[in-house]
Amino acid sequence: MEALPIFIKLKGRRCLVVGGGEVALRKVTMLLKADAEILLVAPALHERLQQLAAEKRIQVVMDTYQPAHLQTACLVVAATDDDAVNQQVSEDAKACNIPVNVVDAPALCTFTMPSIVDRSPVVIAISSSGTAPVLARMIRSKLETLIPASYGRLAQLAADFRDAVKARFDNSQKRRVFWEAVFSGPVAELVFSGQEAAARHALANQLAAADNATVSGEVYLVGGGPGDPDLLTFRALRLMQQADVCVYDKLVSPQVMELVRRDAELIYVGKARDRHTLPQEDINALLVRLAKEGKRVLRLKGGDPFIFGRGGEEIETLMDQGVPFQVVPGITAANGVSTYAGIPLTHRDHAQSCIFTTGHLKAGEDGHVTSVELDWPALTRPNQTVVIYMGLAGLPDICRQLVANGLPASTPAAVIQQGTMPQQRVVAGDLTNLAELVAAAELKSPCLIIVGSVVTLRHKLAWFQPA
Ligand code: SAH
Repeated sequence: MEALPIFIKLKGRRCLVVGGGEVALRKVTMLLKADAEILLVAPALHERLQQLAAEKRIQVVMDTYQPAHLQTACLVVAATDDDAVNQQVSEDAKACNIPVNVVDAPALCTFTMPSIVDRSPVVIAISSSGTAPVLARMIRSKLETLIPASYGRLAQLAADFRDAVKARFDNSQKRRVFWEAVFSGPVAELVFSGQEAAARHALANQLAAADNATVSGEVYLVGGGPGDPDLLTFRALRLMQQADVCVYDKLVSPQVMELVRRDAELIYVGKARDRHTLPQEDINALLVRLAKEGKRVLRLKGGDPFIFGRGGEEIETLMDQGVPFQVVPGITAANGVSTYAGIPLTHRDHAQSCIFTTGHLKAGEDGHVTSVELDWPALTRPNQTVVIYMGLAGLPDICRQLVANGLPASTPAAVIQQGTMPQQRVVAGDLTNLAELVAAAELKSPCLIIVGSVVTLRHKLAWFQPA
């Protein structure tokens, strides 16, 4: 983040605006919306600024800027067309630690003014950190159409009931459940349709009838897909945004984690450098415990929870313990990664079936990991694509066994690292040289192996080319 968005209270506080033209007027208008007390310094004034001065809504000094004007200002905006003056204001303000904005000169600013969607008391600020103001404005106009004006009134109604709701429930979780019901139920509809008195009445009734008993928790077992957050389902996103706690592992991409509700507690259960993955039984028990505390627990997994994700085991425990849950499928790696690598898993001229398997190494008698044990005859049938999860470490052995069990050594094969992500890398070859090429390219987990003549199609179809 280039700058931290904050909302600053200006009511009754002095803001200095240097400049008397149209740009200054725009800034003054914005500052007035926040009830700032404005001192404007300029040798000449835009007509509308003269009017504001006459109405005593701003105070004006008809002069050139002097450092003394900064006194008692809590914020400064320079909007003159004289670069030297703008520069001077910026330097003086910085010297006094007063936040300063110089219009159209990011280098001189210590704060910038975002594009705003105003549904007061709800305010949304959008910034492109000065890189693409037009894009920020486009996002703003999208949000403008998406968020009805009445959301502001709904927030105001909530503000009026805030203390009463706080007094009614003894913890924040119950309060949240109550407010969610309000914001997505009949009270909100009444506000949206302009029936505010009825909404107020309905909210009072809903509060009086509300139960202060323990809320029951739930587990959402959600597939987070292979990495690109655009591949999440709508349902996944909705549940991710309403969870109280998120239990996740290494495979979930940071971009997907970004979409989990900001104030949800995050519990990592994946492998860390200095410790092992939390044993599956412990994860199962953790989910049960959190749900029984009344929390909405997001169990977020990479890809699809039911494909090499042990999702089945987790919900079996929930079922045994009577914990309510729902499962949301995700795009599994085979699906997402092959698509982004330009490799269709089936194709009329190449493969009529496709097998997903795992290529985990098994430990030998002496404790050393040696070979991959798979149903080789099934994997070496003709006209078939084989997708191997978790096969990076066993790749040399896998290639050898496939050939030993009858696949031509020239069978095309590819390894894709971090598919669907900006870091995606594809290394392709055949069963004789793939392991060597992958070692030379130093590919790191997660990697997916695809074996079969469909791999050759990527020369034509590789559409996703991250920089
Ligand atoms: N449930 C997951 C799979 C978990 S097993 C799913 O449906 O996708 C973990 C393996 O998935 C990794 O070892 C790797 O083989 C594969 N994988 C997951 N995401 C991947 C990605 N973005 N790129 C390449 N392989 C991936």
